[in-house]
Amino acid sequence: MSKKDGFVQIRGAREHNLKDVHLEIPRNALVVFTGISGSGKSSLAFGTLYAEAQRRYLESVSPYARRLFHQMPVPEVDSIEGLPPAIALQQQRGAPTTRSSVGSVTTLSNSLRMLYSRAGNYPEGQEILYAESFSPNTPEGACPTCHGLGRVYEVTEQSMVPDDRLTIRERAIAAWPPAWHGQNLRDILTTLGYDIDIPWRKLPKKDRNWILFTEEQPVVPVYAGLSPKEVQQALKRKDTPSYQGTFTSARKYVLDTFANTESASMKKRVSQYMVGKECPLCMGKRLRPESLAISFAGYDIAELSRLPLKQLATLLHPYARESAPGWDQMAATHPEKAIVTQRIAADLSDRLSVLLSLGLGYLTLERSTPTLSPGELQRLRLATQVHSNLFGVVYVLDEPSAGLHPADTQALLEALDRLKQAGNSMFVVEHALGVIRHADWIVDVGPEAGEHGGRVLYSGPPPGLSHVTDSHTRRYLFTDNGLAGRSIRSPRGWLQVEGVTRNNLANVDAAFPLGVLTSVSGVSGSGKSSLVSQVLVELVSRELGQELVAEADQGESIEHDMPATLGGRITAGMASIGRLVTVDQKPIGRTPRSNLATYTGLFDHVRKLFASTQAARTRHYDAGRFSFNVAKGRCGNCEGEGFVMVELLFLPSVYAPCPVCQGTRFNAETLEIRYKNKNIADVLSMTVDAAHDFFVDEPAIQRSLGVLREVGLGYLRLGQPATELSGGEAQRIKLATELQRTTRGNTLYILDEPTTGLHPSDVDKLIFQLDKLVQSGNTVIVVEHDMRMLAASDWVIDIGPGAGDEGGRIVASGTPAEIVHDKASRTAPFLKEFMP
Ligand code: ADP
Ligand code: ADP
Ligand code: ZN
Ligand code: ZN
Repeated sequence: MSKKDGFVQIRGAREHNLKDVHLEIPRNALVVFTGISGSGKSSLAFGTLYAEAQRRYLESVSPYARRLFHQMPVPEVDSIEGLPPAIALQQQRGAPTTRSSVGSVTTLSNSLRMLYSRAGNYPEGQEILYAESFSPNTPEGACPTCHGLGRVYEVTEQSMVPDDRLTIRERAIAAWPPAWHGQNLRDILTTLGYDIDIPWRKLPKKDRNWILFTEEQPVVPVYAGLSPKEVQQALKRKDTPSYQGTFTSARKYVLDTFANTESASMKKRVSQYMVGKECPLCMGKRLRPESLAISFAGYDIAELSRLPLKQLATLLHPYARESAPGWDQMAATHPEKAIVTQRIAADLSDRLSVLLSLGLGYLTLERSTPTLSPGELQRLRLATQVHSNLFGVVYVLDEPSAGLHPADTQALLEALDRLKQAGNSMFVVEHALGVIRHADWIVDVGPEAGEHGGRVLYSGPPPGLSHVTDSHTRRYLFTDNGLAGRSIRSPRGWLQVEGVTRNNLANVDAAFPLGVLTSVSGVSGSGKSSLVSQVLVELVSRELGQELVAEADQGESIEHDMPATLGGRITAGMASIGRLVTVDQKPIGRTPRSNLATYTGLFDHVRKLFASTQAARTRHYDAGRFSFNVAKGRCGNCEGEGFVMVELLFLPSVYAPCPVCQGTRFNAETLEIRYKNKNIADVLSMTVDAAHDFFVDEPAIQRSLGVLREVGLGYLRLGQPATELSGGEAQRIKLATELQRTTRGNTLYILDEPTTGLHPSDVDKLIFQLDKLVQSGNTVIVVEHDMRMLAASDWVIDIGPGAGDEGGRIVASGTPAEIVHDKASRTAPFLKEFMP
């Protein structure tokens, strides 16, 4: 046997920015990939190792899948040897997750249904139900009234006609289809003799009801383009109509479309005209009455699914240990039932204990996954894998510590160790020092981002990294951690909120200092996001009369969980806040059409510059000519995307470069125009650094580029599509866009876990930028679990002490130096290590 046994050997990896990387990494070990944001860690771990494992797997399954894989991206690598099959537990930032629940993701609900089916208490005379009868997603289980949704949706006159001062011609019936289809319905009403030119509210009630709610669908002659009067004359003369039109009431249109359309955007459009209320039959429990009649430990299955997992575990424990009240009697009378109960309860308890140890005990089985943070979702999947009994596979994870308070990191490491001990390889992209220190092997990528990164600086056991001078990671891992020499700034006032009630917060009062940097901390699930990202954002924007930009949820909006309760008001401090900005890690766009240059506004200046060249003026090309969103200048084949979408059958669609413009996005005539010998596509392919040199004579462009370099994005290309940017990059682009505005000093910035995905050296850069916002007189509030950020703050608000029901209170509030002495704060001991 060669000494290479037990290693994965990679040769010539060149995906994205990787520079022909040769590397050997051990199997059956915890391997942590480190390096600053954009250095190439994900390109190596996911883009190369995982992608190749996936490709080989698909190739091995079937000829059919092999056909598909020809269209799948093949990683740029010469060879990989010794690579086991891989499972990725990757966080999908910003991407909409398909609707599922904690119970379904973890498969705990399946076991619970089995428990109710086989070991539940049935009312006298009721037959045993199959497990499916306890699922709202099956015909056997779903409540017949709400079809398992828990809510019923109806339309009302008010929901479909929001403004009754409008006439039908002025589109009073907002719920009707847009464009020609809506006009068609209007023309039908004219034929039927309804007045479409008086305000809706002046129409008789009987007519309004018929138009909105009738089930009838009369077919009538339509005379397009004629006035109401002319239509009546034409009818009398029995003229040949333009066509025969079928009438559909607004209600019928909305409900049919909602039930039948396959288009998410149509569904979303009509859903806004519907109003929902709790289903009167199942009271929101989503199941048939027969299923809800079965109980276990005094609860029906819906009630059990609403208990925090921690409480569920406590409830099941005595059954697993055969010590529940009345157990002996049951074991004597129904021995088979006792056996089933014990087995299922033991299995559930065992699996729940992993979830609890990963700090997720505050979740309920019923909680829908789109309301979870990416970190919570990843840990759920991780916990599920711990019990999968797989071995010999590679798990590839990105930042499993995301959203996790340091107090919970130990449990995470134990879960990773368990999977390793079962005979698996753990490849983890991570920034948290606690996780890096625990690694068996470190692969440090860098030294910088993008073009200046992509090399492996070190590959080996952690201590060896201490000799690698090029490594940024080395600095944070082996030398002191504090941010020395910071002085605390004092607030110039307080933003006070009172009576906040939301999720686990009950009647909480809080005071946020103005004009300084505040971190809100606490264990995962303690209520940080509920207080800051939900309530505070809503209250402040309401006070400012600022439209809350709706979360970009994809369709299904109607089924999204509404907060159960909402209470709270601002009692002081609004006078000095003029604007609210939330900076998150959501993508700056979902198609290749958005990019850094368009998002920051920098591209507007560049286009004007091209339009002002002699050649452009001669040809009468204006700035619009140089936009890939305007037809005249862009490539007609890809409509300026540079990419064409290739639809794959049951895999996510992929983008391929446009064969006509070769990805340049513009048509040949547009590309003939040059500024300083570069065409517009050349400019879009420049990095921010290169463009900074190129546009030396253009102060406005220089300024935007300068800020982008300051936030550490000098390596990005101007035209790099939004779809290729990481969450951390998107966040920094948003931040840079803010920083280039002329600051008015009265803005409140709110950031939820801005350090996610950031290397400690990136965190230092971020702190520097946040400081700049504060120095211009603004207020910054971040939700954080990164102790570096906390230590650098002027004020800390610690929420907790625990998660869910055990949290939701403000445990401590003060300067970082005050917080470390607070005995009640779980954050204090960790913060202490980062204080000078
Ligand atoms: P890290 O994981 O270390 O943050 P990445 O591997 O995501 O870094 O990125 C490394 C480099 O590759 C960056 O310059 C990034 O902009 C670029 N990159 C990432 N994804 C893509 C992509 N899909 N296409 C082209 N370039 C990409
Ligand atoms: P943190 O931000 O500190 O991790 P959260 O504010 O997200 O905590 O959560 C606090 C509590 O509120 C938890 O018990 C969590 O399960 C619950 N919660 C948060 N968001 C929702 C939601 N959309 N629906 C139901 N419960 C929620
Ligand atoms: Zn119902
Ligand atoms: Zn094209």
